[in-house]
Amino acid sequence: MTDLSPASGHIAIPERVRERAVRLADALPAYVYDLTDLDRHSAAVRRALPGIELYYAVKANPDPALLHTLAPYADGFEVSSVGEVTHVRTVLPDARLALGGPGKTDAELGLDVHRVHVESPGELRRLIAVGGPVDALLRVNLDVPVEGASLTMGGGATPFGMDPDGVRECLELVRGQNRVRLRGIHAHLASGLHAPELLDLAKEVLAFGRELDATEICLGGGMAVSYRDPEERFDWEAYGQGLGYLRNRGETLRVEPGRALTAYCGWYLTRVLDVKRVHGEVFAVVTGGTHHLRTPVAKGHDQPFAVLPTGRPDTGVTDEPVTIVGQLCTPKDVLARRVVTSLNIGDTVAFGLAGAYAWTISHHDFLMHPKPGFHYLT
Ligand SMILES: *Cc1c(COP(=O)(O)O)cnc(C)c1O
Repeated sequence: MTDLSPASGHIAIPERVRERAVRLADALPAYVYDLTDLDRHSAAVRRALPGIELYYAVKANPDPALLHTLAPYADGFEVSSVGEVTHVRTVLPDARLALGGPGKTDAELGLDVHRVHVESPGELRRLIAVGGPVDALLRVNLDVPVEGASLTMGGGATPFGMDPDGVRECLELVRGQNRVRLRGIHAHLASGLHAPELLDLAKEVLAFGRELDATEICLGGGMAVSYRDPEERFDWEAYGQGLGYLRNRGETLRVEPGRALTAYCGWYLTRVLDVKRVHGEVFAVVTGGTHHLRTPVAKGHDQPFAVLPTGRPDTGVTDEPVTIVGQLCTPKDVLARRVVTSLNIGDTVAFGLAGAYAWTISHHDFLMHPKPGFHYLT
Protein backbone atom coordinates (compact mmCIF):
# COMPACT_ATOMS: atom_id res chain seq x y z
CA MET A 1 0.00 0.00 0.00
CA THR A 2 2.82 2.40 0.87
CA ASP A 3 5.69 3.10 -1.46
CA LEU A 4 8.84 4.75 -0.23
CA SER A 5 8.78 7.87 -2.39
CA PRO A 6 9.44 10.91 -0.17
CA ALA A 7 6.20 12.61 -1.20
CA SER A 8 3.96 9.73 -0.19
CA GLY A 9 2.21 10.23 3.16
CA HIS A 10 2.89 13.96 3.36
CA ILE A 11 0.63 17.00 3.23
CA ALA A 12 1.33 20.72 2.99
CA ILE A 13 0.13 22.52 6.12
CA PRO A 14 -1.40 26.00 5.70
CA GLU A 15 0.39 28.77 7.60
CA ARG A 16 -2.56 29.51 9.89
CA VAL A 17 -2.85 25.87 10.95
CA ARG A 18 0.92 25.71 11.48
CA GLU A 19 0.85 28.79 13.73
CA ARG A 20 -1.97 27.36 15.84
CA ALA A 21 -0.23 23.98 16.03
CA VAL A 22 2.96 25.54 17.36
CA ARG A 23 0.98 27.53 19.94
CA LEU A 24 -0.80 24.34 21.04
CA ALA A 25 2.44 22.37 21.40
CA ASP A 26 1.89 21.89 25.15
CA ALA A 27 -1.79 21.05 24.75
CA LEU A 28 -1.68 18.08 22.38
CA PRO A 29 -3.31 15.93 21.12
CA ALA A 30 -5.87 18.27 19.62
CA TYR A 31 -8.16 18.64 16.67
CA VAL A 32 -8.06 21.92 14.77
CA TYR A 33 -10.84 22.76 12.33
CA ASP A 34 -10.12 25.48 9.80
CA LEU A 35 -13.60 26.99 9.39
CA THR A 36 -12.38 29.65 6.97
CA ASP A 37 -11.12 26.91 4.68
CA LEU A 38 -14.41 25.01 5.04
CA ASP A 39 -16.37 28.15 4.21
CA ARG A 40 -14.29 28.79 1.09
CA HIS A 41 -14.51 25.16 -0.04
CA SER A 42 -18.28 24.87 0.58
CA ALA A 43 -18.89 28.10 -1.34
CA ALA A 44 -16.92 26.73 -4.31
CA VAL A 45 -18.86 23.44 -4.25
CA ARG A 46 -22.15 25.33 -4.08
CA ARG A 47 -21.12 27.52 -7.06
CA ALA A 48 -20.17 24.43 -9.09
CA LEU A 49 -23.65 22.92 -8.73
CA PRO A 50 -26.12 25.48 -10.09
CA GLY A 51 -29.70 24.22 -10.01
CA ILE A 52 -28.73 21.12 -8.01
CA GLU A 53 -29.77 20.74 -4.36
CA LEU A 54 -26.89 20.18 -1.96
CA TYR A 55 -27.41 18.26 1.28
CA TYR A 56 -24.61 17.49 3.74
CA ALA A 57 -24.33 13.92 5.08
CA VAL A 58 -24.05 14.67 8.80
CA LYS A 59 -22.40 11.36 9.72
CA ALA A 60 -19.17 12.57 8.08
CA ASN A 61 -18.77 15.11 10.90
CA PRO A 62 -21.59 16.48 13.06
CA ASP A 63 -19.47 19.10 14.88
CA PRO A 64 -21.79 22.10 15.53
CA ALA A 65 -19.23 24.64 14.29
CA LEU A 66 -18.92 22.76 11.00
CA LEU A 67 -22.71 22.55 10.64
CA HIS A 68 -22.99 26.32 11.19
CA THR A 69 -20.29 26.95 8.59
CA LEU A 70 -21.96 24.66 6.03
CA ALA A 71 -25.51 25.90 6.64
CA PRO A 72 -25.46 28.88 4.21
CA TYR A 73 -24.48 26.56 1.35
CA ALA A 74 -26.61 23.51 2.17
CA ASP A 75 -30.22 23.09 1.12
CA GLY A 76 -30.54 20.45 3.82
CA PHE A 77 -28.87 17.75 5.89
CA GLU A 78 -28.93 13.98 5.50
CA VAL A 79 -29.32 12.30 8.91
CA SER A 80 -29.58 8.65 9.93
CA SER A 81 -30.72 8.41 13.54
CA VAL A 82 -32.86 10.04 16.18
CA GLY A 83 -29.58 11.26 17.68
CA GLU A 84 -28.55 13.08 14.50
CA VAL A 85 -32.05 14.51 14.04
CA THR A 86 -32.08 15.89 17.60
CA HIS A 87 -28.53 17.21 17.25
CA VAL A 88 -29.07 19.06 13.96
CA ARG A 89 -32.40 20.47 15.21
CA THR A 90 -30.58 21.88 18.26
CA VAL A 91 -27.77 23.40 16.20
CA LEU A 92 -29.86 24.54 13.20
CA PRO A 93 -33.55 24.59 14.17
CA ASP A 94 -34.78 25.51 10.68
CA ALA A 95 -32.71 23.06 8.66
CA ARG A 96 -34.38 20.66 6.24
CA LEU A 97 -33.69 17.06 7.14
CA ALA A 98 -33.68 13.93 5.02
CA LEU A 99 -33.76 10.78 7.16
CA GLY A 100 -31.92 7.82 5.66
CA GLY A 101 -30.11 4.72 6.80
CA PRO A 102 -30.96 1.04 7.14
CA GLY A 103 -32.76 -0.14 10.27
CA LYS A 104 -34.96 2.78 11.25
CA THR A 105 -37.03 2.25 14.40
CA ASP A 106 -40.72 3.12 14.59
CA ALA A 107 -39.72 6.15 16.71
CA GLU A 108 -37.45 7.31 13.87
CA LEU A 109 -40.10 6.67 11.23
CA GLY A 110 -42.51 8.81 13.29
CA LEU A 111 -40.21 11.88 13.20
CA ASP A 112 -41.41 14.92 11.32
CA VAL A 113 -38.75 15.43 8.62
CA HIS A 114 -38.63 16.89 5.11
CA ARG A 115 -37.90 13.54 3.43
CA VAL A 116 -37.66 9.91 4.49
CA HIS A 117 -35.47 7.62 2.39
CA VAL A 118 -37.29 4.29 2.46
CA GLU A 119 -34.96 1.27 2.55
CA SER A 120 -37.33 -1.66 1.97
CA PRO A 121 -40.97 -2.68 1.47
CA GLY A 122 -41.06 -3.77 5.13
CA GLU A 123 -39.92 -0.33 6.22
CA LEU A 124 -42.51 1.30 3.97
CA ARG A 125 -45.26 -0.80 5.61
CA ARG A 126 -44.17 0.47 9.03
CA LEU A 127 -43.87 4.05 7.75
CA ILE A 128 -47.45 3.90 6.47
CA ALA A 129 -48.53 2.52 9.85
CA VAL A 130 -46.69 4.92 12.18
CA GLY A 131 -45.56 7.90 10.16
CA GLY A 132 -46.88 10.67 8.08
CA PRO A 133 -48.11 12.47 6.38
CA VAL A 134 -44.60 12.43 5.04
CA ASP A 135 -42.75 12.78 1.74
CA ALA A 136 -40.59 9.82 0.85
CA LEU A 137 -37.97 8.68 -1.65
CA LEU A 138 -37.32 5.01 -2.36
CA ARG A 139 -33.68 4.07 -1.90
CA VAL A 140 -32.76 1.97 -4.88
CA ASN A 141 -29.89 -0.45 -5.35
CA LEU A 142 -29.53 -0.89 -9.07
CA ASP A 143 -27.79 -3.78 -10.77
CA VAL A 144 -25.12 -1.62 -12.35
CA PRO A 145 -21.36 -2.14 -12.34
CA VAL A 146 -19.66 0.04 -9.73
CA GLU A 147 -15.95 0.23 -10.52
CA GLY A 148 -13.09 2.01 -8.82
CA ALA A 149 -15.00 2.65 -5.59
CA SER A 150 -13.51 2.47 -2.08
CA LEU A 151 -16.82 1.23 -0.59
CA THR A 152 -19.84 -0.10 -2.44
CA MET A 153 -23.37 0.16 -1.10
CA GLY A 154 -25.07 -0.91 -4.31
CA GLY A 155 -24.66 -2.67 -7.63
CA GLY A 156 -25.24 -6.08 -6.06
CA ALA A 157 -26.47 -7.83 -2.91
CA THR A 158 -25.99 -5.42 0.02
CA PRO A 159 -28.26 -4.44 2.95
CA PHE A 160 -28.79 -0.98 1.45
CA GLY A 161 -31.89 0.00 -0.43
CA MET A 162 -33.94 -2.26 -2.65
CA ASP A 163 -33.75 -3.89 -6.04
CA PRO A 164 -36.32 -3.27 -8.80
CA ASP A 165 -38.58 -6.02 -7.36
CA GLY A 166 -38.61 -4.23 -4.02
CA VAL A 167 -39.38 -0.96 -5.79
CA ARG A 168 -42.37 -2.55 -7.56
CA GLU A 169 -43.65 -3.86 -4.23
CA CYS A 170 -43.39 -0.36 -2.75
CA LEU A 171 -45.31 1.16 -5.65
CA GLU A 172 -48.15 -1.28 -4.86
CA LEU A 173 -48.02 -0.41 -1.15
CA VAL A 174 -48.40 3.34 -1.64
CA ARG A 175 -51.48 2.96 -3.84
CA GLY A 176 -54.76 3.90 -2.18
CA GLN A 177 -53.26 5.60 0.89
CA ASN A 178 -52.18 9.17 1.52
CA ARG A 179 -49.92 9.09 4.58
CA VAL A 180 -46.78 8.51 2.55
CA ARG A 181 -46.35 10.62 -0.58
CA LEU A 182 -43.80 9.14 -2.93
CA ARG A 183 -41.68 11.92 -4.48
CA GLY A 184 -39.00 9.93 -6.24
CA ILE A 185 -35.88 7.88 -5.67
CA HIS A 186 -32.63 8.01 -3.78
CA ALA A 187 -29.39 6.22 -4.63
CA HIS A 188 -26.08 6.17 -2.82
CA LEU A 189 -24.30 3.33 -4.56
CA ALA A 190 -20.64 3.79 -3.75
CA SER A 191 -18.02 6.06 -2.25
CA GLY A 192 -14.60 7.18 -3.38
CA LEU A 193 -15.62 7.90 -6.98
CA HIS A 194 -14.41 10.60 -9.38
CA ALA A 195 -16.71 12.87 -11.37
CA PRO A 196 -16.86 10.81 -14.62
CA GLU A 197 -17.74 7.60 -12.74
CA LEU A 198 -20.35 9.35 -10.60
CA LEU A 199 -21.88 10.88 -13.74
CA ASP A 200 -22.09 7.42 -15.35
CA LEU A 201 -23.93 6.15 -12.29
CA ALA A 202 -26.17 9.23 -12.32
CA LYS A 203 -27.26 8.36 -15.88
CA GLU A 204 -28.38 4.91 -14.75
CA VAL A 205 -30.19 6.23 -11.70
CA LEU A 206 -31.92 8.97 -13.71
CA ALA A 207 -33.05 6.49 -16.38
CA PHE A 208 -34.50 4.25 -13.69
CA GLY A 209 -36.19 7.14 -11.90
CA ARG A 210 -37.70 8.58 -15.07
CA GLU A 211 -39.34 5.27 -15.89
CA LEU A 212 -41.17 5.62 -12.58
CA ASP A 213 -42.04 9.28 -13.28
CA ALA A 214 -39.93 10.37 -10.31
CA THR A 215 -39.83 14.16 -10.02
CA GLU A 216 -37.16 14.12 -7.36
CA ILE A 217 -33.93 12.17 -7.59
CA CYS A 218 -31.22 12.12 -4.95
CA LEU A 219 -27.90 10.86 -6.28
CA GLY A 220 -26.20 10.40 -2.91
CA GLY A 221 -22.62 11.24 -1.96
CA GLY A 222 -19.41 9.31 -2.42
CA MET A 223 -17.22 11.98 -4.05
CA ALA A 224 -13.58 10.89 -3.80
CA VAL A 225 -11.01 12.21 -1.35
CA SER A 226 -7.46 11.04 -2.09
CA TYR A 227 -5.51 10.30 1.09
CA ARG A 228 -2.49 9.43 -1.06
CA ASP A 229 -2.40 12.72 -2.87
CA PRO A 230 -4.11 15.43 -0.80
CA GLU A 231 -3.71 17.92 -3.65
CA GLU A 232 -5.89 15.82 -5.93
CA ARG A 233 -9.46 17.10 -5.56
CA PHE A 234 -12.85 15.93 -6.77
CA ASP A 235 -13.75 17.87 -9.93
CA TRP A 236 -16.92 19.64 -8.73
CA GLU A 237 -17.06 21.83 -11.84
CA ALA A 238 -17.09 18.87 -14.24
CA TYR A 239 -19.61 17.09 -12.04
CA GLY A 240 -21.90 20.12 -11.84
CA GLN A 241 -21.67 20.66 -15.60
CA GLY A 242 -22.42 17.01 -16.26
CA LEU A 243 -25.44 17.06 -13.97
CA GLY A 244 -26.60 20.25 -15.67
CA TYR A 245 -26.67 18.41 -19.01
CA LEU A 246 -28.41 15.38 -17.52
CA ARG A 247 -31.10 17.28 -15.65
CA ASN A 248 -34.56 17.60 -17.21
CA ARG A 249 -36.73 20.62 -16.66
CA GLY A 250 -39.07 20.29 -13.67
CA GLU A 251 -36.86 17.65 -12.07
CA THR A 252 -35.29 18.14 -8.64
CA LEU A 253 -31.79 16.69 -8.52
CA ARG A 254 -29.99 16.45 -5.22
CA VAL A 255 -26.56 15.31 -4.03
CA GLU A 256 -25.53 14.59 -0.44
CA PRO A 257 -21.75 14.51 0.00
CA GLY A 258 -20.07 14.10 3.35
CA ARG A 259 -16.36 13.29 3.15
CA ALA A 260 -15.48 15.54 0.20
CA LEU A 261 -16.99 18.57 2.00
CA THR A 262 -15.41 18.35 5.45
CA ALA A 263 -12.30 16.12 5.19
CA TYR A 264 -9.97 18.97 4.18
CA CYS A 265 -10.73 21.39 7.03
CA GLY A 266 -9.72 19.01 9.85
CA TRP A 267 -6.29 18.51 11.40
CA TYR A 268 -5.30 16.10 14.18
CA LEU A 269 -2.22 17.33 16.01
CA THR A 270 -0.01 15.12 18.13
CA ARG A 271 3.46 15.18 19.63
CA VAL A 272 6.32 12.72 19.29
CA LEU A 273 6.96 11.00 22.65
CA ASP A 274 9.58 8.49 21.58
CA VAL A 275 11.60 7.47 18.57
CA LYS A 276 12.97 3.95 18.57
CA ARG A 277 14.54 1.40 16.27
CA VAL A 278 13.24 -2.15 16.71
CA HIS A 279 14.69 -4.97 14.59
CA GLY A 280 15.90 -2.36 12.14
CA GLU A 281 12.62 -0.49 11.72
CA VAL A 282 12.05 3.04 13.06
CA PHE A 283 8.91 3.78 15.09
CA ALA A 284 7.74 7.18 16.30
CA VAL A 285 5.30 6.96 19.20
CA VAL A 286 2.98 9.97 19.39
CA THR A 287 0.47 11.17 21.98
CA GLY A 288 -3.07 10.04 21.21
CA GLY A 289 -3.51 7.62 18.31
CA THR A 290 -6.17 5.79 16.38
CA HIS A 291 -8.64 6.01 19.30
CA HIS A 292 -8.84 9.68 18.27
CA LEU A 293 -8.26 9.24 14.53
CA ARG A 294 -9.38 5.80 13.39
CA THR A 295 -9.56 6.82 9.72
CA PRO A 296 -6.23 5.24 8.61
CA VAL A 297 -7.19 1.91 10.22
CA ALA A 298 -10.75 2.01 8.89
CA LYS A 299 -9.59 2.80 5.35
CA GLY A 300 -6.24 0.98 5.39
CA HIS A 301 -4.15 3.98 4.37
CA ASP A 302 -1.36 6.21 5.68
CA GLN A 303 -2.86 9.38 7.08
CA PRO A 304 -0.91 12.19 5.39
CA PHE A 305 1.03 14.39 7.80
CA ALA A 306 3.41 17.30 8.21
CA VAL A 307 6.14 17.45 10.87
CA LEU A 308 6.72 20.74 12.74
CA PRO A 309 10.14 20.98 14.41
CA THR A 310 9.00 21.86 17.95
CA GLY A 311 11.20 19.18 19.53
CA ARG A 312 14.82 18.59 20.49
CA PRO A 313 17.32 18.29 17.62
CA ASP A 314 19.26 15.05 17.20
CA THR A 315 16.83 12.90 19.18
CA GLY A 316 15.23 11.27 16.17
CA VAL A 317 15.91 10.37 12.55
CA THR A 318 16.57 12.14 9.25
CA ASP A 319 15.09 11.02 5.93
CA GLU A 320 14.23 7.49 6.95
CA PRO A 321 11.11 5.36 6.66
CA VAL A 322 9.20 5.86 9.93
CA THR A 323 6.09 4.10 11.21
CA ILE A 324 4.00 6.47 13.33
CA VAL A 325 2.06 4.76 16.09
CA GLY A 326 -0.14 5.96 18.94
CA GLN A 327 -0.27 5.18 22.66
CA LEU A 328 -2.55 2.14 22.48
CA CYS A 329 -1.29 -1.30 23.50
CA THR A 330 -2.19 -2.91 20.18
CA PRO A 331 -0.21 -3.36 16.96
CA LYS A 332 -3.19 -1.92 15.07
CA ASP A 333 -2.61 1.57 16.44
CA VAL A 334 -0.77 2.73 13.30
CA LEU A 335 -1.37 6.18 11.78
CA ALA A 336 1.17 5.92 8.96
CA ARG A 337 3.51 3.14 7.91
CA ARG A 338 7.11 3.44 6.67
CA VAL A 339 6.79 6.97 5.40
CA VAL A 340 10.14 8.61 4.65
CA THR A 341 10.46 11.63 6.94
CA SER A 342 12.61 13.42 9.49
CA LEU A 343 11.42 13.87 13.05
CA ASN A 344 12.64 14.31 16.61
CA ILE A 345 11.24 13.74 20.08
CA GLY A 346 8.95 16.66 20.94
CA ASP A 347 8.12 17.48 17.32
CA THR A 348 4.50 18.16 16.42
CA VAL A 349 2.92 15.85 13.87
CA ALA A 350 -0.07 17.39 12.08
CA PHE A 351 -2.26 14.80 10.35
CA GLY A 352 -4.38 16.31 7.58
CA LEU A 353 -7.66 15.23 5.95
CA ALA A 354 -9.00 14.66 9.48
CA GLY A 355 -12.27 16.54 9.12
CA ALA A 356 -14.48 13.61 8.04
CA TYR A 357 -15.00 10.11 9.46
CA ALA A 358 -12.28 10.87 12.01
CA TRP A 359 -13.09 11.73 15.65
CA THR A 360 -16.66 10.37 15.62
CA ILE A 361 -15.75 6.97 14.17
CA SER A 362 -12.98 6.43 16.76
CA HIS A 363 -13.11 4.27 19.92
CA HIS A 364 -12.39 7.10 22.38
CA ASP A 365 -12.61 5.17 25.62
CA PHE A 366 -10.26 2.34 24.74
CA LEU A 367 -7.38 2.56 27.31
CA MET A 368 -8.89 5.73 28.84
CA HIS A 369 -6.30 8.22 27.61
CA PRO A 370 -7.33 11.90 27.80
CA LYS A 371 -9.56 13.23 25.04
CA PRO A 372 -8.09 15.75 22.56
CA GLY A 373 -8.95 19.44 22.71
CA PHE A 374 -11.00 20.97 19.88
CA HIS A 375 -10.01 24.29 18.35
CA TYR A 376 -11.50 26.35 15.54
CA LEU A 377 -9.81 28.75 13.16
CA THR A 378 -12.26 31.43 12.09
C1 LIG B 1 -22.56 8.17 4.11
C2 LIG B 1 -23.59 8.56 3.16
C3 LIG B 1 -23.42 9.69 2.34
C4 LIG B 1 -22.13 10.47 2.30
O1 LIG B 1 -21.12 9.72 1.72
P1 LIG B 1 -19.66 10.38 1.47
O2 LIG B 1 -18.85 9.26 0.92
O3 LIG B 1 -19.18 10.86 2.79
O4 LIG B 1 -19.85 11.50 0.51
C5 LIG B 1 -24.46 10.07 1.53
N1 LIG B 1 -25.63 9.36 1.51
C6 LIG B 1 -25.81 8.26 2.26
C7 LIG B 1 -27.09 7.53 2.19
C8 LIG B 1 -24.81 7.81 3.10
O5 LIG B 1 -24.98 6.71 3.83
